Amino acid sequence: MNVIKNTTADLQEMDRAHFMHPSTHMRQHAAGETPNRIINGGKGIYIHDTEGRESLDAFAGLYCVNVGYGRTEIADAIYAQAKELAYYHTYVGHGNEPVIRLSDRIIKSAPEGMQRVYYGMSGSDANETNIKLIWYYNNIRGLPQKKKIISRWRGYHGSGIMTGSLTGLAAFHNAFDLPRAPILHTTCPHHYWNAEAGETEAEFAKRCANDLEKMILREGPETVAAFIGEPVMGTGGIITPPEGYWEAIQAVLNKYDVLLVADEVVTAFGRTGSYFGSQHYGIKPDLITIAKGVSSGYLPLSGVIIGERVWKVLEQGSDQMGPIGHGWTYSAHPVCAAAANANLDIVDGENLTGNSADTGGYFQKRLHETFDNHPLVGEARGVGLMAALEFVADKTKKERFDPNAKIGPRVSAACLERGMIARAMPHGDILGFAPPLCITKAEVDKVIDIAKQAVDAVADEVAAGK
Ligand code: PMP
Repeated sequence: MNVIKNTTADLQEMDRAHFMHPSTHMRQHAAGETPNRIINGGKGIYIHDTEGRESLDAFAGLYCVNVGYGRTEIADAIYAQAKELAYYHTYVGHGNEPVIRLSDRIIKSAPEGMQRVYYGMSGSDANETNIKLIWYYNNIRGLPQKKKIISRWRGYHGSGIMTGSLTGLAAFHNAFDLPRAPILHTTCPHHYWNAEAGETEAEFAKRCANDLEKMILREGPETVAAFIGEPVMGTGGIITPPEGYWEAIQAVLNKYDVLLVADEVVTAFGRTGSYFGSQHYGIKPDLITIAKGVSSGYLPLSGVIIGERVWKVLEQGSDQMGPIGHGWTYSAHPVCAAAANANLDIVDGENLTGNSADTGGYFQKRLHETFDNHPLVGEARGVGLMAALEFVADKTKKERFDPNAKIGPRVSAACLERGMIARAMPHGDILGFAPPLCITKAEVDKVIDIAKQAVDAVADEVAAGK
């Protein structure tokens, strides 16, 4: 094979000339003003680039590489399956062994009452499937007016037209004429910013549930089909639910025959220290979205896990409508499913969920010890192996920085300079952590040390008026 190896400079030039990057400022990139880093390998919790730099990836790619980089077991499974059967569709009852085995193990490990898995390639398309299944469900039930879906401000559910609408972040709405009807957003359950003075977590949770109830009543319960939420908000800022939140929300949903979708794209397969985030918080969802950790990103795979209430109706279907008119070419792709099985063999075999609880507990403890009293940090929060630091200009008065000061991105850049990737979240001044679930306590110490140096460095700049 004639492999042409380009220099980094060649690759960067070709990149700027022909490659449109997601979530990137296009003009700045074309002008060479953005870091044009070319990643060419990874091992464990580290990645490296064509210029020989190594970084500790404390965000697991985009919270997906849960088993870490360079797991040859998954590469071997992909190779073996691609040789055996690279593709066949799963329409009109066709199956393949990897996806049948994968479905069996997912249902057996999922929260009680889950019945079937429908596959896609991304979290966005899986949530698109959710919306369609919910509408189909209510059409079959003879309730065609019951179609509205309530999401939350700062929720993240994808980048499509409808899933971008479900997302409750302005950065994903502005410039795209989103959100579209029939999607509504209710209160973000972030106690730190949204609670009133003196309001306890439990009182605040109750108020969030009351806000939801008011919205359902205002819209008319006969028009509201579902509520969607991440057990722990991810991209909106890694926000753990206040005490009693999910219990109070579910009581409202049950009262008005509103389905619950748990978007577990980030939380499923161990991230919170439980196998599913729903199990961690006592959530009884009707539909669960999975992606990321199901394959650790080795190949794209997502899915919707369908619970009893919805499945009973879908299974019945409708003679008028015929077979369900919803399918992707690559739904239940055999090679992606083989990658997922090999990935989950590692997750289960190495008890990464247990590590997420144990090493994650250590991580949360160290984070609080190190940052609770730091003048730049308003709140340190998290669960299992997901966490965030919220930066504030005035800790006592709870005042935000001027967004133009870009404190979050500056701390993230200071981490990178010190050899670690931690993500500046897209809303507010927040540094997010979601390392691979195979991280050790010694590696956690390293994450904390680098984060401390980076936060101190930016705090010094701020103190110096920069
Ligand atoms: N839901 C959640 C909770 C997510 O975090 C994401 C991605 N960050 C998505 C949906 C969308 O997934 P994708 O980017 O694979 O479309």
